[in-house]
Amino acid sequence: MSPEERDTLLSELNDISSARPVQIVVAHEDDHAFELDEAALERILLQEHVRDLNVVVVSVAGAFRKGKSFLLDFMLRFMYNKMSSSWLGGHEEPLTGFTWRGGCERETTGILAWSEVFVVDKPDGSKVAVLLIDTQGAFDSQSTIKDCATLFALSTMTSSVQVYNLSQNVQEDDLQHLQHLVKCFFVHCSLRQTLMFLIRDWSYPYEHPYGLEGGKSFLEKRLQVKQNQHEELQNVRKHIHSCFSNIGCFLLPHPGLKVATNPNFDGRLADIDDDFKMELVSLVPILLSPENLVEKEIGGSKVTCRDLVQYFKAYMKIYQGEELPHPKSMLQATAEANNLAAVAGAKEIYNKGMEQMCGGDKPYMAADQLERGHNDLRKVAVKHFCSVKKMGGEDFCRRYQEQLEAELDEAFGNFVKHNDGKNIFYAARTPATLFAVMFA
Ligand code: GDP
Ligand code: MG
Repeated sequence: MSPEERDTLLSELNDISSARPVQIVVAHEDDHAFELDEAALERILLQEHVRDLNVVVVSVAGAFRKGKSFLLDFMLRFMYNKMSSSWLGGHEEPLTGFTWRGGCERETTGILAWSEVFVVDKPDGSKVAVLLIDTQGAFDSQSTIKDCATLFALSTMTSSVQVYNLSQNVQEDDLQHLQHLVKCFFVHCSLRQTLMFLIRDWSYPYEHPYGLEGGKSFLEKRLQVKQNQHEELQNVRKHIHSCFSNIGCFLLPHPGLKVATNPNFDGRLADIDDDFKMELVSLVPILLSPENLVEKEIGGSKVTCRDLVQYFKAYMKIYQGEELPHPKSMLQATAEANNLAAVAGAKEIYNKGMEQMCGGDKPYMAADQLERGHNDLRKVAVKHFCSVKKMGGEDFCRRYQEQLEAELDEAFGNFVKHNDGKNIFYAARTPATLFAVMFA
């Protein structure tokens, strides 16, 4: 092994051992407030090697103690061993990652993200960044519908694939939760979004077989609109299809009694039923194999990791209020985040170009040359901003363009100052001024 290879291996090992779930959204149960840990989110999404890549966000959402973390840990195994056919792991290897444990005490409500963002080569040669999130939902009686809907909406708006983890059967309740969302949030937003119902402990394989096909026929039956149904329920069923571009369902068998009841179970494969493992091997690649990864799109544009930070902030802001947000404010927030993301992208282009031209390690430049460089880059940056597909209408976007232009001019002021600073240093190198500086 060459020293470089060894270094890469060591750093990879180090990454795996230091990677962990990070709480990015905290739900405070006392006052039903939600809080975004912006610093934590930025540490994850603004890492240099991922921030400009299009992002794929796979979220698993649902009530507590329904095996979400257990599933996510297998998803992590797939991401870490993806080239290997034995990604499922060793027979006696304990499962680690998103902590999961037996018992029935509640854990923190909110959204957790895996701190490592995976870079994956898609078959078309593009690179994407894959973020896994765990929506620790209060989808049970202890929490208000609003909290649950808010969390679910937040992770749905920010993910490209939402896996809705449910126990045994799709209950009318679950559909009602969805109805709230569908009505309140998604109606006006052009989300290219996959919703995957994942039914755990499926016990009627003779009616609908395990896996995707069985799930499909089961879901079709459940989502059928019938004449004698309550109008509200008919509406959910109709709306669901207009909100999600892709809806699927997967039926997963019970993992076996050791998994469900043994307090010493540590996740090793040896203790898990074969049926379950077999279905796991088909489920996880459906969600995560390179050819199946769906990049996040909002308003017709792909979203980078850097953009995603803006969307999180914008959506978070509108969920702070007392009431469920109105669809119009959802749209407004999306448009705002959309424009802010375009501003951030344009600034990055400008700053990178300027750094290359007159950064800290570059020699002093004549003032007029610097200004010409600035004008060129400013044009490129503004052009980039204009070329990004944005929502909100012309007047709305023009405000953000003006903001961008003002910020670029301000940045230029700083580059000029910095450049002038080099000039003095430059002057100090001629013997006479050096003398003057040293003995002043
Ligand atoms: P989470 O709260 O949804 O993240 O649930 P966990 O992943 O922490 O799992 C809760 C408990 O359910 C653990 O004891 C797991 O061993 C067990 N478990 C995991 N997957 C399944 C499943 O598919 N069915 C059943 N019955 N139990 C499961
Ligand atoms: Mg969990």
